[in-house]
Amino acid sequence: MLVRGGKHGDKPSLFGLPLVIWRERAKALQWEVIEGLAAFATPAGDTTRGTYEALRDEILADLRAAMPVDAVLLNLHGAMIADGYPDAEGDLLAQVRELVGPDVLIACELDLHCHLTGLKVASADLMVIFKEYPHVDVAERAQEVFDLVVRTLAGEVHPVMSVHDCGMLGVYPTTREPMISIVARMQALEKEPGVLSVSLAHGFPWGDTPEVGTRVLVVTDRDEQKGLDIARDLGQQVWDSRFAIVPPFVGIDEALDHVMAQAPDGRPFVLADTADNPGIGSPGDSTFMLHRVLERGLGGIALSPLWDPVATAVAFDAGVGARFAMRIGGKLGPASGDPIDVQIEVKALVQRARQPFGGTMASLGDLAWLRIAGDSDDNAVDVVVNNYRVQSFHPDCFRAAGIDPSRYRALIVKSTQHFHAGFAPIAREILYVSAPGSASMDMTGLPYRNVTRALWPRVSDPHQ
Ligand SMILES: [Zn+2]
Repeated sequence: MLVRGGKHGDKPSLFGLPLVIWRERAKALQWEVIEGLAAFATPAGDTTRGTYEALRDEILADLRAAMPVDAVLLNLHGAMIADGYPDAEGDLLAQVRELVGPDVLIACELDLHCHLTGLKVASADLMVIFKEYPHVDVAERAQEVFDLVVRTLAGEVHPVMSVHDCGMLGVYPTTREPMISIVARMQALEKEPGVLSVSLAHGFPWGDTPEVGTRVLVVTDRDEQKGLDIARDLGQQVWDSRFAIVPPFVGIDEALDHVMAQAPDGRPFVLADTADNPGIGSPGDSTFMLHRVLERGLGGIALSPLWDPVATAVAFDAGVGARFAMRIGGKLGPASGDPIDVQIEVKALVQRARQPFGGTMASLGDLAWLRIAGDSDDNAVDVVVNNYRVQSFHPDCFRAAGIDPSRYRALIVKSTQHFHAGFAPIAREILYVSAPGSASMDMTGLPYRNVTRALWPRVSDPHQ
């Protein structure tokens, strides 16, 4: 997404939803709204310096042209690392603060996978972070940001932020305990007098930046100490839950054994290839799970999408019904595994497919449904290759290619947790698989160069 100069439009897009909500609410109050740049990219390596600086400077130029302003609202992911900027959004916020001065309100909505750095906290007045993973609450949090902006501008409250560092790394789905209870407690704490907002920044463990890790953020009405007390208390609960908060991961063969041990009943198992999630920055073309499926001669298994623009183009050239030998996947590097050489049949071709996510529609690119083993839907191994790097958000990533997900024993998805909201209603059971890959869930093995702080589980107790 790259939308310049307030041309975003009314249709909610992935990461454009808060903008649409804030605009509607501001206009209802007859406030003048001036919009700047809106941009989003599926993560990979560090953002290049030239790209980051150009986009940042465009936002700052838009803001400078709009001055004077009463408030600046920003919707930021919060984990961007750019060449020379270990905390890109911290740098952006600091420059926004320098531009507007100390008295203009700066409010943010952040993804819970943000790095909640000192620079961000020092630069903004208030931040509200997603509470749910998968991120099904983007709109609710945007409403809360706007509510707090209205109350602050009216002089009714004066937001102050307090932070507690949990000293932890991990992935914490909120669809299971103990996170369900922790989210409920955060919402209960927000009802206490003087407490404006309570957030848990899970952090983004694959971001090699000094302030990586999990932190609690509490926004109070001018009561920093109360905020700190709540943040410490909630942080202690998160720390005490550390062994249960990270979901159980199973190996590839363990997951496949589990699937094959049970007779098909019309509902597929969903196997999440968590280490190859493009949303984390992985290629989305790893083949470790597919190799095991083929080596074991299993059937009734489908995967979508496998990012392979070359295979997709070749399939489109060959056309539906074509059968030939093809090499798929495993192209980006060692973390993608070896490519797979198979006889394929092109079952379907679809251009510009989309899948729902978080109240918006996300692009899937062009899809080619390839049958790589088996001869009927019941014993086939089917792979949907595409040319747009994106994770599996919803069963429509299969259906869009013409595949009926209910006909398979198991579906393999390239996602860590965002698939959950879409797939849970059709899944017989969801298994988090720890295959090899660039987004490995083994936090102890992440090859940090810039993180020197002690963090669990890399050390047993970072607080000592
Ligand atoms: Zn996130």
